[in-house]
Amino acid sequence: MKTYLKELRVTTKRKMEVLKITEQVNQVIKESGINDGIVTIYVPHATATVIVNEFEPRIINDYVEWIRRNIPADAGWEHDEIDNNAYAHIASAILGPGKVIPLHKGRLMLGTWQEIMLLELDGPRNFRTVVVQIIGS
Ligand code: ZN
Repeated sequence: MKTYLKELRVTTKRKMEVLKITEQVNQVIKESGINDGIVTIYVPHATATVIVNEFEPRIINDYVEWIRRNIPADAGWEHDEIDNNAYAHIASAILGPGKVIPLHKGRLMLGTWQEIMLLELDGPRNFRTVVVQIIGS
């Protein structure tokens, strides 16, 4: 059993943004030399999240729009007294900070239309960290 961990740095350019990171995660898997196990993709942030789904221009707008409609930024949240980003904390808390994906024969077991994405909820940020940890053999 081996473990391998790498911290990826990602820059975001908009308040809310969806960035595909599948290629960077696959690069870490290659570096690790691990072929079978589990891959955790995790963000140590309170206002960003990792999602796994289709990366297509209209649906990535829809992910952001769903959050805007369902967790309005101007709903008078208590935390907004501090730094005006309660909606981003709530969305991050609901969606969770990471995902676990099985690794088999050197390949992530993603479906045809599944990509790994960082969902920025309170950007832009110069540095977002994505932790990729692989455990296996
Ligand atoms: Zn805050």
